[in-house]
Amino acid sequence: MTLTVKEFIKDFKVQFQSMYAYSYEEGSTEQLYNALGMYVKNYLSGNWKETREKYVKNSVKQVFYFSMEFLPGRQLESNAYNLGLLDTIREGLQEMGLSFDELEEAEADPALGNGGLGRLASCFMDSLASLGIPGNGNGIRYQYGLFRQKFVDGYQVELPENWLRHRNIWETRNDKSTCMVRFGGNVWLEENHLGFMEAKYENTLNVLAVPYDTPMVGYRNDIVNNLRLWSAEIPIDEEENYHTLEATEPIKEITQVLYPDDSNYEGRLLRLKQEYFMVSAGVQSILRHFRKYNLPRKNIPDKVAIHINDTHPALVIPEMMRILLDEEHLTWEQAWEITFKTCSYTNHTILREALEKWPIDMMKDLLPRIYMIIEEINRRFVETTMPIYGERITWQTAILQNGVVNMAHLAVIGSHSVNGVAKLHTEILMNDVLKDFFELYPERFNNKTNGITQRRWVHLSNPGLTQLIDKKIGEEWKTNPSELKVFKSFEKDKKTLQKLADIKLENKQRLADYIEEVKGVKVDPKAIFDVQIKRLHAYKRQHLNLLHILHRYLEIKENPTADYVPRVFIFGAKAAPSYIYAKQIIKVINSLANLVNNDPDVGDKLKIVFFENYGVSLAEKIIPAADVSEQISLASMEASGTSNMKLMANGALTLATLDGANIEIKDFVGQENMFIFGLSSNEVYDLKAAGDYNARGIYESNEKLRRTLDALTDGTIPGLQDEGYAIFDSLVNYNDEYFVLKDFDSYIEAQRKVDELYKDQKEWTRKSLINIASSAPFSADYTIKRYADDIWKAKQCSEQSTGVEPLDGPIA
Ligand SMILES: *Cc1c(COP(=O)(O)O)cnc(C)c1O
Repeated sequence: MTLTVKEFIKDFKVQFQSMYAYSYEEGSTEQLYNALGMYVKNYLSGNWKETREKYVKNSVKQVFYFSMEFLPGRQLESNAYNLGLLDTIREGLQEMGLSFDELEEAEADPALGNGGLGRLASCFMDSLASLGIPGNGNGIRYQYGLFRQKFVDGYQVELPENWLRHRNIWETRNDKSTCMVRFGGNVWLEENHLGFMEAKYENTLNVLAVPYDTPMVGYRNDIVNNLRLWSAEIPIDEEENYHTLEATEPIKEITQVLYPDDSNYEGRLLRLKQEYFMVSAGVQSILRHFRKYNLPRKNIPDKVAIHINDTHPALVIPEMMRILLDEEHLTWEQAWEITFKTCSYTNHTILREALEKWPIDMMKDLLPRIYMIIEEINRRFVETTMPIYGERITWQTAILQNGVVNMAHLAVIGSHSVNGVAKLHTEILMNDVLKDFFELYPERFNNKTNGITQRRWVHLSNPGLTQLIDKKIGEEWKTNPSELKVFKSFEKDKKTLQKLADIKLENKQRLADYIEEVKGVKVDPKAIFDVQIKRLHAYKRQHLNLLHILHRYLEIKENPTADYVPRVFIFGAKAAPSYIYAKQIIKVINSLANLVNNDPDVGDKLKIVFFENYGVSLAEKIIPAADVSEQISLASMEASGTSNMKLMANGALTLATLDGANIEIKDFVGQENMFIFGLSSNEVYDLKAAGDYNARGIYESNEKLRRTLDALTDGTIPGLQDEGYAIFDSLVNYNDEYFVLKDFDSYIEAQRKVDELYKDQKEWTRKSLINIASSAPFSADYTIKRYADDIWKAKQCSEQSTGVEPLDGPIA
């Protein structure tokens, strides 16, 4: 059934009128967007229903991906595209004198995540649906997303992100599937008349969990999966107990904000509440769903896989035990076997401060029954581990340690699979971070390198490039990404290279226009567009980038008439509100931008653009225009990275340390087609072990570097308070935790090679083409297929779905 432009126009008019009771010509942009979105949602609703019914009827195994964060981006274009409606809609709107792109800008970009972790979850949702794998997302419907970032005098200011102010047309409130979640109070076990132990509760805070479902649309395969986000409300039959607005606060706050302020006890307690709220509602609704299958409970793992995305949802394990023990009256051994076979866990970080630990007292007060179960899991773990592995390993791996609940340990002990997100990261887990667990359970560990959906990040964000690839190699790469490698055969074809260069220039011109519009800075589209877009963190080393720019600025000032390859440095990054150092880096980059962009000696040789409020929509604008992809984390620190993959797929050349997935990018694209610099992960480990790193020594002996660092504090950059000193101090006086100074020279040298290569436009474009043609292995479709085969044992159940052939080359 294909939709014609004429039919679309007719249906769209009816849709608009039914929602607003006047003619579309009088509609505001937002109303028109709402009507269009609603039209698309109605269009897919049949498939949404049928997909759900088909899964139950065929009694297929379903995956439930539990994540505290999702970063889906705008959904109108992506849904219309996956349904095959996009061209028709664009044309129809045009005939009506409307612009799709303009309407699309009216859609809120839901910032229900911080960065890579949430974006990965959303890429996975897209791939699950496109592969026809029965997969559901489970998360929280935060009323306020991650803060909206503004710069005032170059400082980050955080504003509330009220993304639901305008209606969210994609969600469907599902009042039929609510659950009750209990907090606090007293709990004890009592034998009932059948001889079962039953958990009794008193004085609990009861919270109604209301699901909002959002369709996850597969690519041209009639599959529509479900993303379920939970919202906290007062139970209807308890409404009379809540007389004042204030009294409702403890309930409403649970799903109010994405990241409560974790600098105080109350904030951290709230975060734990959020985690249990999502987990409990999710597990309850899964077990309710399982009952539809009418199977013995031991079959749960044959029909259900629950994935724990980072440790935040690890309470799935005791919650599932609770239900199986207290409500289904299974024995501990039965319940444990089912839980363990159902759950799997992904670790996303080796940062110590990001490995969650909850005070035992807090857990006991807030979740008394869950804490009892965790205690028992821990007791049994210690009892079985101690005689075989001895004291040291047992205490190092226990869940309860020094007054805290170690969530990573809970996740590993209760899951049949533990994976890292890039080869190096998984190795580091096995050899360092989770080393003792690797000794206990070697068979649980596996790697699943992250991926990205090329549908959003190439097909939609870079239509020029997509058309060129279609023209050269046909359209099969869209459903079978490995076909992209055929594009490589054009690496010496002059016409293709010229066309590719033209497309990049057009994308850069478009971004340059946008930069002028929002930042008031004029940049030369022929300059190198050098992009670092990611959360601001010391380990990601935006300050290394800063030092190089500062160094370059000083060179230009010293010798303004020399021959420079013009460069535009582009940043997008939010700093966590309580992360002072990260905010200081933002301020210094902004102040330097102010200096450089207005210095007549500099002109087009150097420009700095720091976008406000980095998020998915902004990424879609920046990435197609990038020439250089900055992936400069200290080796061993970045688990995988995914902006590296998005940028590569759009023809940017990677400038990187051998960290995370950069290593696998190198394996596929070849070292000669990127710029590698800096310490390797092993060298970093050795340097830390030796304990004799001397940052001040480097500062004193390296004149170029000294001059650059001094410029942070000697008044070169106007408008700074003490931010320049803060960075200087951390690097020189506090011994440079992330080895920025150690890697400085080799970074500068790599940057010089970037300039050198860019002078040879043809060679640059050839390497760009090779990058594009080598990006297929980083399709999330492959990643998801590997999760489904190796971990979840879930099958594709749609014949039209994306075919995922095995890949040539070394990825596992
Ligand atoms: C891809 C993406 C990220 C992840 O970037 P990394 O460089 O891998 O940290 C973060 N935020 C947004 C909005 C993204 O699209």
